[in-house]
Amino acid sequence: MSGILYANGSTLGRCMCIITGASKGFGRALAHLVSRYLKLGSVLLLVARSRALLHELKQELLQNLNGIQDISIYCTVADLSTNEGVEDTVDMARQQSLKEFDHVLLVNNAASLGDISPFENFTDLHRVNSYLALNVSSVLALTAGVLQAFPPRAGLRWSAVNCSSTFAVQALPSWVLYCTAKAAREMMFRVLAAENPNVKVLNYSPGPMDTEMQENIRRLTGIQYHLHPCRDSAAKLMRVLLDNDFVTGSHLDFFEL
Ligand code: NAP
Repeated sequence: MSGILYANGSTLGRCMCIITGASKGFGRALAHLVSRYLKLGSVLLLVARSRALLHELKQELLQNLNGIQDISIYCTVADLSTNEGVEDTVDMARQQSLKEFDHVLLVNNAASLGDISPFENFTDLHRVNSYLALNVSSVLALTAGVLQAFPPRAGLRWSAVNCSSTFAVQALPSWVLYCTAKAAREMMFRVLAAENPNVKVLNYSPGPMDTEMQENIRRLTGIQYHLHPCRDSAAKLMRVLLDNDFVTGSHLDFFEL
């Protein structure tokens, strides 16, 4: 375990951890970091559509674990914009639910950019719904399913992380899909925080990172943000999770941490 971030020996505990969108970008960097802070008996469930990338990641993590047998890593190849994809992921998580955990950590990271286009172009309900299916609906259905599989209770640490964005709170012209989805997710998790005191909810805005999503932004808009490596943002999120003193339901931004 790295001593760079944590000299105090904090861990995520014996953790059931689910990371969506783990195949690339931020989710992949976070999976690397998370794997270093799991206690024996933990399970890490990696979710995305790209089978080969997930299995490659699993091999990397196993190598990092250097022969430690008692941390299980599973890949779920799932398209989270579909009912089947969400159900497969919940089923996979539920299969672990008889094991003893002291922490359930769900990171809702998977997302897409969607079309960047003026507001009046979104007349097609299918186009809008198909975007919202992945970026809003699946997040609710997946979180609900995992809550059922691992009912929150006193004595079980439960952390629900939503990968948010500045654009959950700031309106950007022609980004109606992305802004709407991020704002909806933010409120979704605030409701969860208000409803369930046994779940600690965090809306984490990871800042501009060098990922495929940013490549698409550059290609579609010509805008070139100053980008940070995913691992830097993942490290800030890990620090927040390990300290565990954030206010449930809060929105924390990479630049404020
Ligand atoms: P990314 O590089 O585009 O990666 C997205 C991840 O989501 C991939 O692992 C992708 O895997 C998965 N995914 C996409 N569609 C999916 C689907 N239908 N079913 C299952 N998985 C799917 O994105 P990122 O830049 O790392 O962003 C991570 C999170 O941070 C997102 O929530 C994003 O909105 C947020 N964020 C990013 C930035 C930034 O600068 N990059 C800034 C602020 C917020 P597969 O393709 O293998 O399915």
